[in-house]
Amino acid sequence: MVAGRTGVARGEGEDHAISVLIAEDEESFVDALTVGLGREGFLVHVAGDGNAALELFKSVAPDVVLLDQMLPGGVSGLDVCRSIRATSSVPIIMVTAKGEEIDTVVALEVGADDYVIKPFRMRELVARIRAVSRRSPRGTSHEERGAERNEAGQIVAGEVTVDPDQRRVYVRGQEVRLRRKEFDLLSLLVENAGRVLTRDVLIDRVWGSDYIGDTKTLDVHIKRLRSQIERNPVEPALITTVRGVGYRFAGTG
Ligand code: CA
Repeated sequence: MVAGRTGVARGEGEDHAISVLIAEDEESFVDALTVGLGREGFLVHVAGDGNAALELFKSVAPDVVLLDQMLPGGVSGLDVCRSIRATSSVPIIMVTAKGEEIDTVVALEVGADDYVIKPFRMRELVARIRAVSRRSPRGTSHEERGAERNEAGQIVAGEVTVDPDQRRVYVRGQEVRLRRKEFDLLSLLVENAGRVLTRDVLIDRVWGSDYIGDTKTLDVHIKRLRSQIERNPVEPALITTVRGVGYRFAGTG
């Protein structure tokens, strides 16, 4: 049983190690992660079930959370994700077993930022942890990770500012004229900056039952948005594609 254990492995070379809360019940996995992530300089905290993860989350306020989807004790990784999301926008990576890909979509819908599928390589996991923690710059509140509202009620995410009341969009200080659905789509992405939105969520929220025709409609709109807001639409830096899942607004180009 590893519930509540705070395995600490501090690496060299960083003044402030990124702290990672891991919720995982398989001992062999816990050991591999503690050693592997410790070696990379992360500060590792381990919880062996969902309740322990929620307790530990409150006490250590980690920079990143790594949640196994299948946890013992009746509180699943998804439940933990949902609970954390109710109060925090800390980056969350879900870990799922092979063959459970259907649940990765659910994971993203309950607020996970990314997911990895077991078995994965340590290098891949480290890269993802670094990527999500970059979106949550240290020294600022987690709430400031993605978009924020300014005093005028505009939503600001990096180079893009959306004014929901006036239905206007400014990119790098210049107003960009968008069609209605393009505006709705961009607003939704910007409000959720840093987070993956699945195709289903985007289609449902932007078009709802109006969505007719083939599934390319979403991609066509994304393409048009990119041509208007990206510095280089061929290599989009603001609206990025998460293959097979959906799109994410990166915030800064
Ligand atoms: Ca498990």
